[in-house]
Amino acid sequence: MQLLDGKLLSTQIKAEIKIEVEQIAAQGGKKPHLAAILVGNNGASETYVASKIRSCEEIGFKSTLVRLNDTASEAEVLAEIEKLNLDPDVDGFIVQLPLPNHISENRIMEAVNPAKDVDGFHPINVGRMCKGLPAYISATPFGILEMLERYKIQTAGKHCVVVGRSQIVGLPMAILMQRNAAPGNCTVTICHSRTPNLAEVCRSADILIAALGRPEFITVNYVKEGAIVIDVGLTRVTDDTKKSGFALKGDVKFDEVAPRTSYITPVPGGVGLMTIGGLLTNTLLASKKAIYG
Ligand code: NAP
Repeated sequence: MQLLDGKLLSTQIKAEIKIEVEQIAAQGGKKPHLAAILVGNNGASETYVASKIRSCEEIGFKSTLVRLNDTASEAEVLAEIEKLNLDPDVDGFIVQLPLPNHISENRIMEAVNPAKDVDGFHPINVGRMCKGLPAYISATPFGILEMLERYKIQTAGKHCVVVGRSQIVGLPMAILMQRNAAPGNCTVTICHSRTPNLAEVCRSADILIAALGRPEFITVNYVKEGAIVIDVGLTRVTDDTKKSGFALKGDVKFDEVAPRTSYITPVPGGVGLMTIGGLLTNTLLASKKAIYG
């Protein structure tokens, strides 16, 4: 079993981007600028946004955080989006999900200028990704592809099972794993809450990507000997032994599953850090106008 080390890779990715940012500055270019809109004060969202902002600082990006109260109306969020769409200094921005229930995530995603949509959630970016055209690929699937590539994992011809069909993880992941590219060229099965015989389907996977949001759901019975297991899950569970009062759990029961795998991602220290790497890479692409010119 080999660990797919998101911490190591994200450090490398950040170091590479930092060098590029320094080169841009040396040639008189401007710093890439990432903005984030955070609505309300969901604890997990606060942590994710803080970590994204910290990463920007580490690599020399400019960052802006726009905070709105959880009572903010959809119109107020849309107004902030429009400001960022029109601000020539902002290369890319994200609206941290989830949003309060009274705000439509679809309407919010559609309001972001696709050329600044570094989360890759806008239908135009999703559609372009499906067609194999240049697009911002949503950060978590992008980070996972990067991980497979940097560990030189051959994916062609393998059976990839993705558990979860969400718009931000499961669905784009499945599309990317079947595309005619490397990583890709897998035969893909997408599973969800209505899939019968889930354990049996998962056991047929050479590559198992778990994105269900159910802590430690994937036990050893779901995993074929020698499989590659990517754990996207990130759930806060109460843990009185931690200072914060909670621990982060993946969707995979790591201790029993790991010995059966050829490669596996840990939680924390796996996909989560690669996701930030994906977002920073997209922001660099946005600042270079590499996708939309
Ligand atoms: P989501 O929108 O809740 O989607 C979960 C998916 O899993 C749904 O398609 C659901 O099926 C399926 N599912 C739930 N229970 C299932 C079960 N018992 N059997 C089979 N399928 C089941 O979640 P998400 O946004 O994709 O996130 C998934 C997990 O990844 C969460 O833990 C989230 O925190 C984490 N995440 C991590 C990162 C990162 O950076 N590491 C980024 C994003 C998300 P239905 O469609 O039938 O309901």
